Amino acid sequence: MSARIVVPREVVLTTRTNISVRRSVPHRDLRRIGAWIFVDHFGPTTQTDGMVVAAHPHTGLQTVTWLFEGRVQHRDSIGSVQTIEPGQVNFMTAGHGISHSEISVRTDGQLHAVQLWLALPESVRDQTPMFEHEAELPVLRIGDATVTVFAGSLLGATSPATMFTDSFGAEVLVPAGSSITIPIDPAHEIGVLVVEGEALVNGVTAGLTELAFIAPGETSVTIDAIGDTRVVLLGGTPFTERLVMWWNFVARSHDEIRSMRTDWESASNRFPEFADDIGGRIPAPELPNVTLQPRG
Ligand code: MN
Repeated sequence: MSARIVVPREVVLTTRTNISVRRSVPHRDLRRIGAWIFVDHFGPTTQTDGMVVAAHPHTGLQTVTWLFEGRVQHRDSIGSVQTIEPGQVNFMTAGHGISHSEISVRTDGQLHAVQLWLALPESVRDQTPMFEHEAELPVLRIGDATVTVFAGSLLGATSPATMFTDSFGAEVLVPAGSSITIPIDPAHEIGVLVVEGEALVNGVTAGLTELAFIAPGETSVTIDAIGDTRVVLLGGTPFTERLVMWWNFVARSHDEIRSMRTDWESASNRFPEFADDIGGRIPAPELPNVTLQPRG
């Protein structure tokens, strides 16, 4: 089969409103898509002010925030204050460490988003944190379809956001009854997350909220839209470094995770404090009694 379907699991986030998300990566059926190590899908919901995530830390990764509907304000420990709207992307490169908070802004419509993480390779994972907001992204019309490239390069177009891995991310809109074929590097792993509608992905039915995974070896991905369909297309070279992912941290060993947790709990200057409209911070959970093992 040229694609296999991953049905996401429901996860309740540690927030003021106990919102739940659908997580397709990491998942017992899918650990990564290239360097994409985390894929959360939120909404759509009419509770547009329902996302209230107080200050929490990250290390060793890039967070990528992409909205389909709604508005979210980001603040962080390096002084960024940024409202994001559909068609724009936020890239937060955590590196050595950053803390941030997110609060959605009430609108008349709905709130609908994905939150993605990219692993940072060994050479840059301890770098100084940085934040980028990109409001001008390449938008391509391919037949009836519309492709917005928010990360990396696809179809000859490149997002301005800084990448450290050979990865890409795009939103693809395909009207009902239409299709698009996108050439891909056969070295890449590909994920197609259906956030609206239903589609055939390389001939395999992917329902709403499902993710179609395509292993390396394919030279194109074809999306045949059954209903009006919106997907997030992710891909990249398989990321082969072994990682320990725990809570909001990405590291290489249990000991690193323990020291990151200690730095957060002791409010060390690895994660400087900042003011926001939410107040407070999310405490780290207890470490498990077993030693966390790196996984490839
Ligand atoms: Mn976060």
